[in-house]
Amino acid sequence: MDDHVKKVLVIGGGPAGMEAALKIGQAGFGAILVEREPELGGTLKKLVSSFPKWEDPADLISFKAHMLEDNGNVECLTSTTVLSAERSQKGFRVTLRHLKNRGSRELDVDAVILATGFDLMDVSVYGEYGYGIYPNVMSSLEFEERIRGWKEGAEPMPKGVAFFKCVGSRDRSKGFPYCSRICCMYTAKQAGLVKDLFPGTKVYVFYMDYRAAGKGYEEFVRDIIEQKHVRYVRGRPAKVLPENGRLLVRAEDTLMGIPVEVVVDTVVLASAIVPRADTQALTKMFGALTDEYGFIESLPYTPARSGERVFFAGGCGFAVETQGALQQGAAAAAEVIALINKS
Ligand SMILES: Cc1cc2nc3c(=O)[nH]c(=O)nc-3n(C[C@H](O)[C@H](O)[C@H](O)COP(=O)(O)OP(=O)(O)OC[C@H]3O[C@@H](n4cnc5c(N)ncnc54)[C@H](O)[C@@H]3O)c2cc1C
Ligand code: SF4
Repeated sequence: MDDHVKKVLVIGGGPAGMEAALKIGQAGFGAILVEREPELGGTLKKLVSSFPKWEDPADLISFKAHMLEDNGNVECLTSTTVLSAERSQKGFRVTLRHLKNRGSRELDVDAVILATGFDLMDVSVYGEYGYGIYPNVMSSLEFEERIRGWKEGAEPMPKGVAFFKCVGSRDRSKGFPYCSRICCMYTAKQAGLVKDLFPGTKVYVFYMDYRAAGKGYEEFVRDIIEQKHVRYVRGRPAKVLPENGRLLVRAEDTLMGIPVEVVVDTVVLASAIVPRADTQALTKMFGALTDEYGFIESLPYTPARSGERVFFAGGCGFAVETQGALQQGAAAAAEVIALINKS
């Protein structure tokens, strides 16, 4: 990459970071996209299918990865992260570290986009649900891997699966007061995928509320309930107990006002979305704002800007679906381009 071309460092190679780097490259500026995993794709890479259109996430990742590869202005550095950063006259001097060969590289960049995504809360604090005790109680992300196993015929068919929504979200006592925004949708998707694979499996979704505000979202959830026959039970489960090698779920159906017990093989916890552990270190390194929970926050009236020459996109700001992450990546790129174009 020409030393005189203005360069932007994009940290995180999920959908938000890929889109941001692509737009910067397409505008004729240099983009250095660093991803600490060996491959691009982020959380999306772990998913087997995507709401609301049942797309294969691998198609989107390879489409974007090819576009990045074909763009001479973008350099993708996988297995790489940022070791340190110092302010320079026109941006930052950063040191990158290759995580496999431990080699490091210094470079000057005009701006940085943080696109490091979100994490899921460690829900072992909900001891009553047995996460970390019973192997078949798992997080939604772990469940994507289980679905993949079922699809490939590597795992035996379940007779019953129960999903618990709002685990850690909207819970001031043990978790977080906020709604994690995307779990109603991906839970419906996962419940539907189980029914597609095994129509005879009994699938329950225990919910306090369901929030499906997005284009086609309400219809998506309705279809899961009415066409795929997933049983939605309103109520918060009280306990998961082992029973003859399976799992007994005790709950209360708050609409009917009656206790409910179901026996299943797998319990899936739709865990709260939280900032990644190293978000604080990164925001400190670059001088970016965070909110009370540690998600990256924007400066007033600048949706994608969080500090001087520091921008952000996607799940590091809060829970967002893939389409939103792509849109935020494009928006952050637009703000960066506007800034470096005139400087
Ligand atoms: C269980 C589950 C199911 C989902 N299902 C759907 C669905 O069906 N449809 C849908 O639209 N959305 C779904 N989502 C949401 C989707 O995964 C996110 O919208 C999307 O991944 C957000 O993209 P992102 O680029 O912001 O973050 P991510 O995809 O998380 O990517 C961030 C990347 O940054 C990298 N990174 C982090 N820190 C550093 C660092 N310090 N240095 C270098 N690299 C770093 C990470 O390794 C990661 O690759 C689901 C999410 C979950 C948890
Ligand atoms: S999106 Fe749905 S499951 Fe997730 S916290 Fe909000 S209401 Fe609960």
